[in-house]
Amino acid sequence: MSKRVVVLGPPGAGKGTQCMLLAAARGLLHLSTGDLLRAEVAAGSSLGQQVKAVLDRGDLVSDDLVLAIVRHRLSLHQGGWLLDGFPRNSTQAAMLDDLLADLKQPLQVALQLQVPEEELVARLLSRGRSDDNEAVVRKRLQIYVRQTEPINAHYQGRGLLQCVDGLGSVEEVATRICNSLDECAPSEETMC
Ligand code: AMP
Repeated sequence: MSKRVVVLGPPGAGKGTQCMLLAAARGLLHLSTGDLLRAEVAAGSSLGQQVKAVLDRGDLVSDDLVLAIVRHRLSLHQGGWLLDGFPRNSTQAAMLDDLLADLKQPLQVALQLQVPEEELVARLLSRGRSDDNEAVVRKRLQIYVRQTEPINAHYQGRGLLQCVDGLGSVEEVATRICNSLDECAPSEETMC
């Protein structure tokens, strides 16, 4: 069954890895705004140079820019998709609602990967990305708590939020996600 899923969770929760596996297993489009922004940086465009400075500070790029990226990709796509790293704040969540209403592609699940903060810091510091030094990592986690975590309530209120424990091996977490998505409605176990 084709699925339209927003994957939520702090930096380092494993969203990218799990989305990659799930997209391959189920033939879904994996749309990672972080990956698309890093590709822009790698291409060395003038937009890429501006984006690089924002990424290196650990700040968020503008809502309009990421919305334009997501709108472009989703409007070209027919089947199911996984959104990874978007929305990141309540403005983006509202923009996504409007976009999906326009595209007549209602969201089916908001999947929240849960991992304790100290484990996140350890994971991020071992990853070695240019925006993964300790000061930037702590800032990204702070931005997550202040701006991104509150949008869970937005999805919970609509009965779409499902929580999955993100601790354990990649395979263990992947199995939990599959089980969670195969429920027609959030089960007691996956309700946050
Ligand atoms: P990620 O790969 O999702 O951890 O994203 C890496 C960086 O890309 C973030 O720290 C932000 O600077 C930027 N970014 C990714 N997605 C978004 C978004 N939805 N809104 C704003 N900035 C974003």
